[in-house]
Amino acid sequence: MTVTRFAPSPTGYLHIGNLRTALFNWLIAKQQGGTFILRLDDTDPERSKPEYADAIQQDLEWLGLTWDRIETQSSRLDRYADAADRMRADGRLYEAFETPTELDLKRKKQLNMGRPPVYDRGALALSDAEKAALRAERGGHWRFKLDHERIEWTDGILGDISIDAASVSDPVLIRGDGQVLYTIASVVDDTDMGITDVVRGSDHVTNTATQIQIMAALGHSHPRFAHHSLLTGPQGEALSKRLGTLSLRDLRAAGIEPMALLSHLARLGSSDPVELRTTHQELIDGFDLSRFGSAPTKFDVDDLRPLTARVLHARPYADVAEALAARGIDGPKAEPFWLMARENVQVIADVDPLWDIVQNGATPLIAEEDADFIADALAHLPPQPWGETSWSDWANTMKERSGRKGKALFMPLRKALSGMERGPDMARLMPLLSKAPKGS
Ligand code: GLU
Repeated sequence: MTVTRFAPSPTGYLHIGNLRTALFNWLIAKQQGGTFILRLDDTDPERSKPEYADAIQQDLEWLGLTWDRIETQSSRLDRYADAADRMRADGRLYEAFETPTELDLKRKKQLNMGRPPVYDRGALALSDAEKAALRAERGGHWRFKLDHERIEWTDGILGDISIDAASVSDPVLIRGDGQVLYTIASVVDDTDMGITDVVRGSDHVTNTATQIQIMAALGHSHPRFAHHSLLTGPQGEALSKRLGTLSLRDLRAAGIEPMALLSHLARLGSSDPVELRTTHQELIDGFDLSRFGSAPTKFDVDDLRPLTARVLHARPYADVAEALAARGIDGPKAEPFWLMARENVQVIADVDPLWDIVQNGATPLIAEEDADFIADALAHLPPQPWGETSWSDWANTMKERSGRKGKALFMPLRKALSGMERGPDMARLMPLLSKAPKGS
């Protein structure tokens, strides 16, 4: 059975890049009738915060990306300690003592000599006495001893990958203060939990190589891996600095609709066009990981607005009643108001100025050359309450009185009554207006 996981660290809010990973793993699990696990990578006690763990769950719930199970790494530390003990016993985990400054110096020297900055395994040459002295002085961290051979896998997006393990530093699995690091925790979880498919960002390719060897050292085969390309800004610029402003909470606050966001991300970077989907099932049915390419993928937050608009244009009143009521839009007018307004909004917040006009009347927009015409028009508004034919009645009256027609007739009337150059169908807006334009 297919088992996937989404494994964010609760050290911040989810952003658009995280969502790509979450969505792909969720879609794969759903497509196969499998299990989707939300795993909180919270082994860093200083940076992991319960409020971020809560926020991650709220954001995924908002998008309807529900999980079958939630796991936290902080509750599984004994499993990681077991695995570390086994690898120590097998000689695959060794203690090293270099400080970050010493490591930095080594790297610089290697680079100066034109060599790749790979850890030189200096710690393996230490005698027991030297180790004991260093341990007493500064404590040691633990590295996994890679087998220097090629590590190969067929990646679900990148195709055949082959990495020379000698070009990679032996990864640190346990820090000097005893903190277990992601690399080992993730391997133990992925094998314990029977994960069959891992999709993550291409910044994890080297991790994958080392994790494949760690899994083998623990007696396990590895899951299928796929690495999606990283998102860039619209000009190809790195998104990493801007990801803070592309949090899912900000997008939600800006009125972006879940299905717009999901539809966009389920296709962006693939050879299939972005299509607005109305249900999660359609997303699942239309997803194909093999259609995604390895090139960096441009993401423009502005692309979400027209998609959101299309979601709203099709949305029945019942689905927005609550959101409208939260904005003070309720009562008998709320439904006809929505049916009139929905074609004219990009995000739900755009209803506010329209509702203001409906309730309080517009501030007329009158061009100088239309001043007399509008003064006459306002004096000949049909009697209230206005109904379905009020707009055409008024326009006909003014056509006869002024001889105007077409745009010269309708545009000034629209601007006077709605205060806007373009916007809702006037025949549908007029019956909703409680008041004549301000100052008329
Ligand atoms: N916590 C890791 C991250 O957010 C998980 C990576 C993985 O999927 O293994 O980068």
